[in-house]
Amino acid sequence: MKTAVLHNYHQPLQFHDLPVPSIGPLDVLIKVHACGVCGSDVHLVDEEFAPLSQLPVVPGHEVAGVIEEVGEQVTYLKSGDRVGLPLNQQTCGNCRYCVRGETVLCPEQRFTGINLNGGYAEYVKAPARDVTIIPDAISFEEVAPLFCAGITVFTPFKYVNFQVGQRVAVLGIGGLGHLALQFAHVLGAHTIAVSRDTEKLHLAKEKLGADEAIDSSTKDWVKQLQDMGGADVILATAHSSQLMSQSIAALAPEGTLVVLGVDKEPLIMPPLVDLINNRKRVMGSITGSIKDMREMLNVAATHTIRPLIETYPLEDAQLALDHVRAGKPRFRAVLTMT
Ligand SMILES: [Zn+2]
Ligand SMILES: [Zn+2]
Repeated sequence: MKTAVLHNYHQPLQFHDLPVPSIGPLDVLIKVHACGVCGSDVHLVDEEFAPLSQLPVVPGHEVAGVIEEVGEQVTYLKSGDRVGLPLNQQTCGNCRYCVRGETVLCPEQRFTGINLNGGYAEYVKAPARDVTIIPDAISFEEVAPLFCAGITVFTPFKYVNFQVGQRVAVLGIGGLGHLALQFAHVLGAHTIAVSRDTEKLHLAKEKLGADEAIDSSTKDWVKQLQDMGGADVILATAHSSQLMSQSIAALAPEGTLVVLGVDKEPLIMPPLVDLINNRKRVMGSITGSIKDMREMLNVAATHTIRPLIETYPLEDAQLALDHVRAGKPRFRAVLTMT
């Protein structure tokens, strides 16, 4: 099978013809049809996940395909099922998080495309319990990014006491943000797009479900949010701790800042009385558990939430990575394995 492999950090991918992986009794073998290229794949190449990452590795944790073969003890999936494989897999099943269904917090879990071979390949294997059936309505190319970007922006709604009609501001309109706006819109939020890119703000209002748009390059962007009554939820997808820090002042009482974008600089907290008097919260969130995955896919299928994608053949995986590094794709890059 054709694969793109990362052998050394900071080096280009290498292409190999490798044997199709053999599966255990509880595994499935997936014939990959599409695999998203996530910003995290660039961080992998840049050694930012070491020592968690293990080389050589086939990158790719937004996998969508068809089951080719099931292990002898797998009963609820069969050959021909359309399934996706996310970042998080091989959770222990026994820890305090796994038993609550919060598999994403399992300390024993392993990571697709980071320390287990992922989807930049024609085939990938995984435990059957870690894959999720893809609704018929969504194509492989369009569903792939939902397995990381989609679940990342959907999960916070489960944990911020979100109520229909609340104001949800999305900070940064990129791979995550353009999906965050769509989910917020269909879940019943009053949505506010925040970006310094006026073209993206226009698109956000035209196509992505934004009710309002705020240019974050203006001096008074925080005040504009405050004048609307403040945000009940801020989904911060921009990789800027400075913007996130400023945005805490724009939270409404009981509002929550959800940190999703990564930045090396720390958050700068506001005066404590602002947090205390207004019962504000700051939380982080990463991808989501398998139970949230099913719900997210159903919401996306029912309400026609789709990522805007650019596709590349597997052979162009390095080009796709380079484009993601440069921030070029509008808004997600997806490899296809036809
Ligand atoms: Zn990802
Ligand atoms: Zn566990």
